[in-house]
Amino acid sequence: MASSAYRNGAHGGSSGMKVDRPVQVANIKSSSFKSRLTPSHSSGSALRRSSPASFASKDGDGVPGRVRVAVRLRPRNAEELAADADFADCVELQPELKRLKLRKNNWDSDTYEFDEVLTEFASQKRVYEVVAKPVVESVLDGYNGTVMAYGQTGTGKTFTLGRLGEQDTADRGIMVRSMEDILAEISPETDSVSVSYLQLYMEALQDLLNPANDNIPIVEDPKIGDVSLPRATLVEIRDQQSFVELLRIGETHRIAANTKLNTESSRSHAILMVHVKRSFMGGDNIYSNENGDISHLAKPLKPLVRKSKLVVVDLAGSERIHKSGSEGHMLEEAKSINLSLSALGKCINALAENSAHVPIRDSKLTRLLRDSFGGTARTSLIVTIGPSPRHRGETTSTILFGQRAMKVENMLKIKEEFDYKSLSRRLEVQLDKLIAENERQQKAFEDEVERINIEAENRVSEVERSFADALEKERLKCQMDYMESVKQLEEKLVLNQQQRDFDVFTDSNCIGQGPGLSAAEELVELKKLLEKEIKLRKVAEEEVKICKRQQGQDRQSEAGGSVEVLKLHKILENEAHQKKKLEEEIIILRSQLLQLTFEADQMKRYLDGGGSGNAYTGLDSSMSPFRHPQLKDAVNGQKASIATLFEQVGLQKILALLESDDANVRIHAVKVVANLAAEASQFLKNNEGSQIYISKANQKKIVEAGGLTSLLVLLRSFEDETVRRVAAGAIANLAMNEANQELIMAEGGISLLSMTAADAEDPQTLRMVAGAIANLCGNDKLRMKLKSEGGIKALLGIVRCGHPDVLSQVARGIANFAKCESRASTQGTNSSRSLLIEDGALPWIVQNANDEAAPIRRHIELALCHLAQHEVNAKDMISGGALWELVRISRDCSREDIRSLARRTLISSPTFRSELRRLRIEY
Ligand code: ADP
Ligand code: MG
Repeated sequence: MASSAYRNGAHGGSSGMKVDRPVQVANIKSSSFKSRLTPSHSSGSALRRSSPASFASKDGDGVPGRVRVAVRLRPRNAEELAADADFADCVELQPELKRLKLRKNNWDSDTYEFDEVLTEFASQKRVYEVVAKPVVESVLDGYNGTVMAYGQTGTGKTFTLGRLGEQDTADRGIMVRSMEDILAEISPETDSVSVSYLQLYMEALQDLLNPANDNIPIVEDPKIGDVSLPRATLVEIRDQQSFVELLRIGETHRIAANTKLNTESSRSHAILMVHVKRSFMGGDNIYSNENGDISHLAKPLKPLVRKSKLVVVDLAGSERIHKSGSEGHMLEEAKSINLSLSALGKCINALAENSAHVPIRDSKLTRLLRDSFGGTARTSLIVTIGPSPRHRGETTSTILFGQRAMKVENMLKIKEEFDYKSLSRRLEVQLDKLIAENERQQKAFEDEVERINIEAENRVSEVERSFADALEKERLKCQMDYMESVKQLEEKLVLNQQQRDFDVFTDSNCIGQGPGLSAAEELVELKKLLEKEIKLRKVAEEEVKICKRQQGQDRQSEAGGSVEVLKLHKILENEAHQKKKLEEEIIILRSQLLQLTFEADQMKRYLDGGGSGNAYTGLDSSMSPFRHPQLKDAVNGQKASIATLFEQVGLQKILALLESDDANVRIHAVKVVANLAAEASQFLKNNEGSQIYISKANQKKIVEAGGLTSLLVLLRSFEDETVRRVAAGAIANLAMNEANQELIMAEGGISLLSMTAADAEDPQTLRMVAGAIANLCGNDKLRMKLKSEGGIKALLGIVRCGHPDVLSQVARGIANFAKCESRASTQGTNSSRSLLIEDGALPWIVQNANDEAAPIRRHIELALCHLAQHEVNAKDMISGGALWELVRISRDCSREDIRSLARRTLISSPTFRSELRRLRIEY
């Protein structure tokens, strides 16, 4: 256990400080060295460089390296110069090759290689620099370090290590120079250096700084393997001077002690312990991972304290081992000295040979050096030798000791005030803190997010509110603006109106301020109306909405019963058709009733007046075919019924019935129209202003509504006799009006009447047609057209019927025509022969001039008188036999006015006069 702990850097094998690398330089046996010398060995030159890296290369958290060994040769002293004058030195140094040749005899020698070979001329400074300075620098970096001197008494160990150099600065030894460098390097404010100075003699540790302090125990920390001497005096060093003083005191005490003990300093080991404590901010290399990278755990620097220890050991003379055993006390002493030295040697051997057991506990020296030699410390050994061949044996053993030491590897370990457990604890604490902090931050973040959300929501709603407010304001503003502009427009309008009225006023020089005011009133009125309209529209819209809704509902319900709806539709259509039919029948019945009432009334009146039995045979100056004196009284009675019918049914409807598919309907419709037209004549006959107006209005309405055209169409397209008769009657009545006469002619009415006249057999029809033509014949303007369109010939054709009523109308027509001609001749607008004569009417006139029927006779008598008034007709009349008829009229006519007319006519015509003279008729 102990050996492995020693080898493993006194860490109980737990820190990975195991020395397991093979020793690279192994010149142990002198006999074989020459042949096995390896030129590639390169560590030696590194010693000259004052760099710890050159002393050992770093690896991991320890710095592996080897105990560095230098050999120093003391110059010949006076005695040797004298005694050995004839002898050569037992050693020969080859410092440039770092080799030492040990002469065995004059012709044979062994060669050894060291890390440094220092000749007798080597200065103290150079020795310090190659042997101790790397260790010192390492100690300043925080590693433990050891510098030891080993050699025969008198070879210069104390000279190398302990010279104070008070007389000659160049003589200063390693102790003084080390302290110089340490003091120069550390900062007095934060770092500290303190020293203990001890002597190990016969396995007892004495405090050289306090001689009373004897037998100081060595305390080893079982965990970390640190060695300490709690009872040893520890003096803090502030300056070089005080240190040198301390060394001197220590030396004094050492001499005193040796005197007291009756010994020599060479028989004891002197140990200087320099404790360096350095404070610094750091931690990075602690946190670096195994690859040397800086870990993510790297934290801000923190104050750390590095404690390191430099141990300088001035060993007792090595010769005692070999020269002991002769004297009593000396023997014990030799044993004790031997114990520590031999233990050191054994340990070195064990370490060099990588042995499992390193006997560090065998001596106090090895225990004391536990944490400073090999292992985790940086160690330099200087072996001192003398040149004298007399001490060849001692020199050889010294050299071999050095060679063995060169094999000891050590692994440097930095010492700092924490370990991994505490680091782990700290890290755990830190981690917990970070976790807690993270949790807090997370919570804070979430709170912040929530707060921001709420704030954002508030802001949004605020913005929405203000936006709505702004909108409302804008809307109100717009409304105000709108009202304002409407107001302005109204004012402008009123102003304009006033201006216009004023203009009118000034233009016409009229007085009055009314219009301006009335315009404003009108505007107000209009506005009221508009508002009312708007209200109504709203109501209507509401209703429409309701209807639509209802419709929607209806549609839904309809969806299932469209067949039902179709059925209902059909029924409805049928009902409508039925209704129409019934309406038509009502109209027909009404018109029939009217007709019957009318006819009955006529008959009654006629009988009351002692009529001849023909209701239509009455004749007077009027051109109406229906005229009868007794009808005058019937007018008032009929008026109401006609008017009622007119109002109840409506003219348009009646006219529309003229085109009904039903023949009966057509017949009755045409009868109604005819009656309406006939009544007009009655009102005319009544000769009362209002009544005439009404009658005219009725006829006018019939014509305007297209009734005349419809009646003409009936004449043309229907063979039905009754329809034609009634239609012709209606036309005849309408033809009493001069304007209607022209309209009838314009619509080709004369042609239609002619056609009817030609193919009708019914006397009543022919009577109506003849009556209509007769009325047309009374119009001066239509004379030529009547002739050219066959009106006269149509009249003459009708006479084939022979019915006196018909003939009466024909005669009336001829009389009317003749009257127009004679009027035109009198006025000088006609000079040609009568168109009646041209169309061959004269024979019929002459033939019927003395007809039994008075109406016929009278019309013909008038016609002959009118014809005779125009001279160009005289010859035709004479040749046609009309002269005789005229003479007869002038003599026999019952009416006085016609008689005298005929007479005047005969007398005034020269042709008639001469013919009468030729015939010798006396006038
Ligand atoms: P040690 O301590 O090994 O017994 P010392 O250091 O006491 O030997 O040296 C013995 C003597 O040799 C001293 O007088 C010392 O001055 C002298 N000496 C030793 N080494 C040298 C040296 N390298 N140069 C000159 N004198 C030396
Ligand atoms: Mg000495």
